[in-house]
Amino acid sequence: MEITILGTSASTPTKERNVSAIFMSYKAEGLLLDCGEGTQRQMKAAGIPLSKITRIFITHWHGDHVIGLPGLLQSLGLSNHMGSIDLYGPPGTKERLAHMFEAFQFDRRLDLKVHEVKTGSVLETNDFKIECASLRHRVMCIGYAFIENEKRRIDMKLVKKHGVPVGPLVGKLQEGHVVTVDSKKITPDMVSDVIPGKKVAYVTDTTQCAGALKLAQDADILICESTYHSDLADQAKEYTHLTAQEAAQIASQAGAKKLILTHFSARYNDASVLEQDARTVFDNTEAAKDLMRIKL
Ligand SMILES: [Zn+2]
Ligand SMILES: [Zn+2]
Repeated sequence: MEITILGTSASTPTKERNVSAIFMSYKAEGLLLDCGEGTQRQMKAAGIPLSKITRIFITHWHGDHVIGLPGLLQSLGLSNHMGSIDLYGPPGTKERLAHMFEAFQFDRRLDLKVHEVKTGSVLETNDFKIECASLRHRVMCIGYAFIENEKRRIDMKLVKKHGVPVGPLVGKLQEGHVVTVDSKKITPDMVSDVIPGKKVAYVTDTTQCAGALKLAQDADILICESTYHSDLADQAKEYTHLTAQEAAQIASQAGAKKLILTHFSARYNDASVLEQDARTVFDNTEAAKDLMRIKL
């Protein structure tokens, strides 16, 4: 899995930072989380072809998270993208997209499948699932978590020791089934280890809430907004955003392994002050930069 942070600015782009978007690539899937203005250009700068996008996840309909959508969908429509794209967003997303398609003259429409989500399971594939939870913002806002399925690693020495012949029975054990060899039951745990899957959570545009904690629970990486320094906590509360320290509290309470801060107010030229603010609570914190890559 590779995560590319495409934009780290809140509300409005700055000279150094674009507005919110994250691209996650996992096997054949390309997951785009939010699509602020200029996202397609950031993807070009990052060397990610637009055709890699298989699914788009929208947190909420504030402009800094969605204004890149018409341009991106226009380009995808003009390109040779023959497949369909699944787009997930909060209730009201279908209607807003319909208005958007009315507002602009799209030459060729992409096959866009729109799903409105609010809480719980968003989708499940053979390799991973996506869950979502409602956050607490001025408008309805959804956070997402990517959860890779756990895998079994078969130990061929143990397979041999228990007399399991190499072949389909090993495949069954790999899938987690109990098999019988010479009227003896062999369980998957007798011949394999379980490797837990990775979890990446994306929590943005919210105050501290149960949904944020749930998504961040045991995450390997929590990508979380930190619009303000803790010395502007009142402002954060008023505009329903998090301070860096509050983001760190979520990471700490949820048992996340690493915190990546993003969605910085334009007043901070250097986001390292926010990183330092968060580190007073949660040490394994890094302030994201545009086009930063994280391998997992
Ligand atoms: Zn925002
Ligand atoms: Zn917002």
